[in-house]
Formats: sequence, C-alpha cells, structure tokens
Amino acid sequence: MISNTCSVDSILSILATSAADSSSYRKYLYNLKETNLTASIALQMITEKKVKQIYYNRALLLLQFFSSKVQTLVGGFKLIDTTNTAASMVNKIMDEMPSFVKTSVCNNNFCSVPMLEVKSTQLSLNVYDGQINLSRDLLAYIEISEENCSFCVNKRSVTVAATEHIMIELNSIPSDLELSTSTGNIEIVPLHLIKQNFTQPIKAKLDNLEKFLTVGDKTYKLRGVVSFFGGERRGLRNAMGHYTASAFRGNHKWETYDDMKKKVENARASTTNDEEL
Ligand SMILES: [Zn+2]
Repeated sequence: MISNTCSVDSILSILATSAADSSSYRKYLYNLKETNLTASIALQMITEKKVKQIYYNRALLLLQFFSSKVQTLVGGFKLIDTTNTAASMVNKIMDEMPSFVKTSVCNNNFCSVPMLEVKSTQLSLNVYDGQINLSRDLLAYIEISEENCSFCVNKRSVTVAATEHIMIELNSIPSDLELSTSTGNIEIVPLHLIKQNFTQPIKAKLDNLEKFLTVGDKTYKLRGVVSFFGGERRGLRNAMGHYTASAFRGNHKWETYDDMKKKVENARASTTNDEEL
C-alpha cells in the first residue's frame, strides 16, 4: 500500500498526456524507458491496459526515494508514505530528465576545470503579487551571463540550454520575508528551503497561463499544471494537502486528473486554482 501519492500521480499524468499528444515527446520517453522508470511508467499509462503493472512499477519507483518511510502494519502489510511537494517529487523522479543544462566555460584555456555542466530538473520562479510572466522570467534565466571562476582568477561564460521539456515551480514569496531573512539563525538555511516553506498560494486561472514559450529556435507548448489544495495554508508550503493535475490536451481542452476521483473530468479554463508547477 502506498499513501499520499497525489504529487507523483499528478506529475506522471502530465508526462503521460504530453506523450499522448506529442509524437516527439513520446519518442523522447521511449528512448529513456529501458533505463528510466519514470519514462517507462508514463508510456505505460497511455499504452498498457494492465493497471496492476503500472502500480507495481510506480511502487518500485517510489521505493527508491521513500524506503525510510515504510511501515509494517498488522498482518505484514507494508505502507509507504510518499507525502511530498510537487517540486521535490520532480527532483526525485525526474533526476535523469533535466529541464536545463547549464554550461560554464572558463575564459582561461589553462584553467583546471575549463568546462562544467550542471543539470537541473526545474526552474523555480518567484511570483510577486500573483503576476505570472513565464516567458520574461525564463528568458532572464537562460540569458548568457558571466561569473567568476572558482578554479582560477578568470571569468566564466555561462549558457543555459532547455531540453525536451521545461518544468517550472511557482513560488509566491511574502514581501516581508526579506526582513525575516536578515535575522541570524535563518541565514544558514538554504534559499530553496525558505522558498519551499514560506510560499503563499498562487491563484491563477488555467487559461491565463502562457500557452507557448519560445526559447531560441524552440517553441514549448503548455502541457499541464499541477495544482495544490491545501485548505488552511497560511504562507507555509507543505505537502499535507492534495495535488491534482490539469492537462492542456491536444484539442485545447483542459482535463483534470485527481487520484481521489475515479474518472477524468473536464476542467474549465476559467477555473482558479493554486498553481504550483
Ligand atoms: Zn577558470
């Protein structure tokens, strides 16, 4: 038995509908499926009739990350608690499916580390006053920049390339957070943890999100949104709530996947949810 699987199910649903609607994305997953369980499950969700096989693979996938959360119940049943935020789940199950590859090249040919590549699963964006502007923020992120080389005294040129997909986490940071970060003990907390923990709901209509993003010569189509239903969330992001996925299908209709409900529902484009991924 696996509990609280809504974050993993939401992400897998969007990967699966993306593969169903895009032949190039299907091919991308197909090339990964022998070595990557996430890709293979997403493909099974659109081809396999045997739900049992999909559940079995999903359990294998989740056990890689939540083996410490296994509880043995009366009767020898095992329960795995997979409570997690959507962004943290993406980091786990899509580790080998990065959204971006950042390459930094030192201007000094004799540098001990002339070239360095760092992959990232997603871009974490701060949203102020609920104003989501994906293309502006994305272009700023991939802009060519320069940084100091930590291996020699020269500069490094940094370029960021997007891959087959782009995952974006949306964070709404309270404006007073800046004040609280100046206190001594919070300074040692990594910024990504602050973002995870002090983020407010982002209320946005599905249809107000940008449908296309252009990055260089590539155009990315919006395929889906993961929304959070947390009830009493007051500035704290935690996974103790419920995630659903809304897929923007090839026919330009929104469909909602909710693992608490038996069947897929059509979603209204004017629905306002707390969009998290
Ligand atoms: Zn260098």
